[in-house]
Amino acid sequence: TRDFDGLKALVTGGASGIGRATAELLAARGARVAVLDLNPGGVAKPLTGHRADVSDDASVREAVAAAVRELGGLDVLINNAGIGAQGTVEDNDDDQWHKVLDVNVLGIVRTTRAALPHLRVSTHAAIVNTCSIAATAGLPQRALYSASKGAVLSLTLAMAADHVREGVRVNCVNPGTVDTPWVGRLLDAAPDPAAERAALEARQPTGRLVSADEVAGAIAYLASPLSGATTGTALAVDGGMQGL
Ligand code: NAD
Repeated sequence: TRDFDGLKALVTGGASGIGRATAELLAARGARVAVLDLNPGGVAKPLTGHRADVSDDASVREAVAAAVRELGGLDVLINNAGIGAQGTVEDNDDDQWHKVLDVNVLGIVRTTRAALPHLRVSTHAAIVNTCSIAATAGLPQRALYSASKGAVLSLTLAMAADHVREGVRVNCVNPGTVDTPWVGRLLDAAPDPAAERAALEARQPTGRLVSADEVAGAIAYLASPLSGATTGTALAVDGGMQGL
């Protein structure tokens, strides 16, 4: 199926993991796709890469403008770029708080602000934010990351309300533990990565991690005309984690 035929999409953090799987899926389904990333080096055709830091407003505005010029408009914005943080409130200093909130929360604000004038004139406008089960799960050792994703969830609902009458839908996905380079880096930092991976898998109700393609599938649904009456929702993609 080519449910994205004729649509133009921009994916932030699209050079790796969930963003990359999403960019590739949208392209395979007919969209023209541009990627905005800190490191767009590995982005290959038919995708195009634009270097930008979502924590730098000027670089976001430039990259969004360049992507829109290249695509000839914009229908779909996937706000996926994000970074992690571990620890309790005692473990992260103010600089770390500012940095993570700047990327994970304000990054979405900046990209959306730059994209909205273009989305508004699209007849099929959809924004999907990559949130996390951390937004509501109360995970230990994730105070800063959870707070950032809680803000992403609230922001998604507020943006949905603000822009529904302009024909712009806004939803988010809440992934559980997804097998991406990010999680690979965390596992590699453990004394015994293989044992750590096995323990992580054992904690999943499905006995395995969620794949990046499975998150991409949920994002693609929320970005596609198939979900045309859905706005202001969070779709869990967590292998049943949330129900525990
Ligand atoms: P990843 O590290 O594999 O990919 C993230 C991408 O974002 C990278 O290409 C990176 O260069 C880019 N990026 C980071 N900071 C940026 C910035 N300031 N400006 C522009 N680009 C930037 O990570 P992933 O696991 O694919 O995570 C993607 C999103 O999914 C994040 O928002 C993350 O919070 C969320 N998420 C991940 C998991 C998981 O288990 N992997 C679970 C829930 C939510």
